[in-house]
Amino acid sequence: MKEVVILGGGIAGLSAAYRLRQAGWESRIFEKDPDWGGLCGNFTINGFRFDRFVHFTFTSDPQLQQLFAASGPLWNHPPVSSNYYHGYWLYHPAQNNLYPLPTEEKVKIIAGFVKRKQVPVSEITDYETWLRVQYGNYFAEHFPFAYTRKYWGAEPKELETKWVGNRMHAPTLEEVLKGAFEKPTENFYYTSVMRYPQKGGFKSILSALAQGADITLNKQAVSINPAAKSVCFADGTTGTYEKLLSSLPLPEIVNLLPDVPASVQNSAKSLRHTCGYQISLGFNKPDIAKHLWFYIYDEDIPPARVYSPSLKSPDNVPQGCSSLQAEVFYGNTASIPPAQTVLQTTVEKLQQMGLFKSEDILVKDIRFEPYANITFDHAIYQNRQIVLDYLTSLGIYSMGRFGKWAYYWTHQAFEDGKITAEKIIND
Ligand SMILES: Cc1cc2nc3c(=O)[nH]c(=O)nc-3n(C[C@H](O)[C@H](O)[C@H](O)COP(=O)(O)OP(=O)(O)OC[C@H]3O[C@@H](n4cnc5c(N)ncnc54)[C@H](O)[C@@H]3O)c2cc1C
Repeated sequence: MKEVVILGGGIAGLSAAYRLRQAGWESRIFEKDPDWGGLCGNFTINGFRFDRFVHFTFTSDPQLQQLFAASGPLWNHPPVSSNYYHGYWLYHPAQNNLYPLPTEEKVKIIAGFVKRKQVPVSEITDYETWLRVQYGNYFAEHFPFAYTRKYWGAEPKELETKWVGNRMHAPTLEEVLKGAFEKPTENFYYTSVMRYPQKGGFKSILSALAQGADITLNKQAVSINPAAKSVCFADGTTGTYEKLLSSLPLPEIVNLLPDVPASVQNSAKSLRHTCGYQISLGFNKPDIAKHLWFYIYDEDIPPARVYSPSLKSPDNVPQGCSSLQAEVFYGNTASIPPAQTVLQTTVEKLQQMGLFKSEDILVKDIRFEPYANITFDHAIYQNRQIVLDYLTSLGIYSMGRFGKWAYYWTHQAFEDGKITAEKIIND
């Protein structure tokens, strides 16, 4: 039996191990954290459970749905979300739901929409132009431009457009007008249902997948020697492998390798991403959270998005309580304000929005994630390919959201782990 080593115990690593097990192969997962699950994981403070950012599953693959459901029953939430813009609450997507805005604001948005440039989408290569062409200048500048700075840590013109896919709804004039005159009845979100485990937080959908996996926790890989086919760990131990799979972020794995050519190092360093804080709040009342999740466009309010763990599942809070988690993102090269400053400002601003009072708060926590979203700047595909080709040349199979450096949801990271395992089986 060949020794297959998997670095990282997130969904991609678990999926690869699962596929290998199905084919009769053994593998060992080494995970740096004290628990498996990666970004699908969670933490609990005084009975309040918080995921590591929002997390629902919306896979349409029946087999994966079955595997997730095998871990326990799920809630099916309709994907109803909201937007907060200068004191107004608009259903999502905002451009289709202008109803609550003052007339003057609606006129500027609609006039901008009517006058928008007509350019075939296939000819557009930058996100700024894409937004102007889809929505008109006024809406683009006041909504998605602001959101891009908050969520992607970048200016829209710095981004390319292939990542957009069906993620952003491009409205017709009729839709914009209808949503400006009357309350919406139609939902334009890109999925029809958002599923979430009834018990145990998002991570629990991975329980069936993790069952039977050989996972060693608190085992951080600190160097890899492809010639000797060995991995050194932070605890001073070394292991050998016949095949190596990694879900480590590309810029991280490159740092673990010896004698990396300068061109590869430069490409790895040029890969941009966001990092961010999770600000988690537990409340002593059951009805604080009103929205499953919502987006905030105001740039003086740090979070880009806020969601409610207690509305995802009441199992996430003690009885009679509720909770929110706010997500605050930065570009990886930005200067990041200290955690306590961000926590304080966020709590103050959310209070000013009227979401809760300070006496409602039972739990207040802030944590930092070094890797959140991949930033799709104009050089991403070239830089990513250079790094991936180099890893392939060393016999390292890179996978998952940060190992492929792709905008993967959990089901896509799962699929990538599976495909990567199949490559190993067939090689
Ligand atoms: C803000 C945000 C919201 C999201 N919301 C959703 C959602 O609603 N629905 C959805 O489907 N997806 C969502 N996702 C995406 C989802 O989280 C990812 O696609 C998925 O979790 C990626 O899994 P992975 O295994 O590829 O990576 P990870 O989960 O990052 O796993 C990699 C693992 O490698 C470990 N590791 C790193 N370095 C080392 C080392 N040196 N040695 C050993 N181990 C190491 C890490 O600790 C981690 O456990 C969201 C992501 C973000 C950032």
